[in-house]
Amino acid sequence: MDFLKDLENRGAILKGHFLLTSGLHSNTYFEKFRILEDPSILVPIMDELLSDAPDVDWVIGPALGGAIMAIEGARILKAKAGYAEAVEGRRVLRRGFDIQKEDRIIVVDDVLTTGKSVRETLECLKDYNVLGVYVIIDRSEGDTGINIPLKSLLKIPVKNFTPEECPMCKAGIPLERRGGLKK
Ligand SMILES: [Zn+2]
Repeated sequence: MDFLKDLENRGAILKGHFLLTSGLHSNTYFEKFRILEDPSILVPIMDELLSDAPDVDWVIGPALGGAIMAIEGARILKAKAGYAEAVEGRRVLRRGFDIQKEDRIIVVDDVLTTGKSVRETLECLKDYNVLGVYVIIDRSEGDTGINIPLKSLLKIPVKNFTPEECPMCKAGIPLERRGGLKK
């Protein structure tokens, strides 16, 4: 299945001049909710992404996107789903998940940009047995500081620019804000 074409057609991959949550500018934006809103694409994507995943007890993702993926991943792998929620600049597992020390865990997330949400999720699981990280789109340009096996369905490196060095700003292209509000 050609996921790239499908994602472009449904507006999950946008071209333009975008302000990212980080404050950087980019010519590409991944609108992950065009994937997460529709089981007819999310289910085959999760099937493919987890096709070689090991047997696990838990699939855990950072809320919101990773949590939506986690429940589908847990269905595929016959595991349970856990959600790492953002609380005061870090990720925490609330909701009383009964994770045992020996339980086998994978982490899932939608779009890997700087790797921050995955790193925070791994940090809150540091006392547990995490086997790997699975992301739909890896848009990072290099080191994300994730030091366990990482699999992505699509690797689409995108260059980000500071406002000062942004060629689209210099060309006078209007800037569009997408995604969550900048803190
Ligand atoms: Zn710009």
